[in-house]
Amino acid sequence: MDNKVMEKLSYGLFVCTAKDGEKDNGCIINTATQVTSSPNRVMVAINKDNYTHDMVVKTKALNVSTISEAASFDMFKHFGFQSGRDVDKFSPSSGEWMKENLASCKRAKNGIMYITEGVNSYISLEVYEMVDLGSHTMFICDVVDGEVLNDIASATYAYYHKSIKTQVEKVGATPEGKTVWKCKICGYVYEGEDLPEDFICPWCKHPASDFEKVVM
Ligand code: FE
Repeated sequence: MDNKVMEKLSYGLFVCTAKDGEKDNGCIINTATQVTSSPNRVMVAINKDNYTHDMVVKTKALNVSTISEAASFDMFKHFGFQSGRDVDKFSPSSGEWMKENLASCKRAKNGIMYITEGVNSYISLEVYEMVDLGSHTMFICDVVDGEVLNDIASATYAYYHKSIKTQVEKVGATPEGKTVWKCKICGYVYEGEDLPEDFICPWCKHPASDFEKVVM
């Protein structure tokens, strides 16, 4: 089978937020789809490595904001390339992006934060059923609330690769003749001749198979 067929499927990109007690958190996901309209249900899949995953399992509630073409790579870095286990992503001290955008973040009726910059809408969800898929849990959810924030087009995964990720590829240089492995998903660079087979990208959590060898 040609594995590239999988890249022909279209995906959106979303910021998934949750709240457990006093802890607010969020991560980037690419799997959120309306599966039924009556009742209005959405399927969301979250990688178990994400702290947000554990919070949703526990609290059964989440917000999903649809990322728009106005999103910056810094927003992806903020929510996608650091863990809520290590930082408080809704604190200004957690990064430049949040320092600039915290004032525009809001709390939905369900008490969970949502962002208003780089997204065009959000929906509030309650978990109806969970399915263990191994690396991910699939959450089938009831849509309980939502709001359109602007009319900017939703960003597809393809758009992210073509226009958003490139914002980072221009920065950083490695000495000539050096071999590096570059994550095709987020641009993370691993320096070295051989990339361990079980390597997991520390930023986006994708496996070694999503890295390409680059001779600088
Ligand atoms: Fe990566």
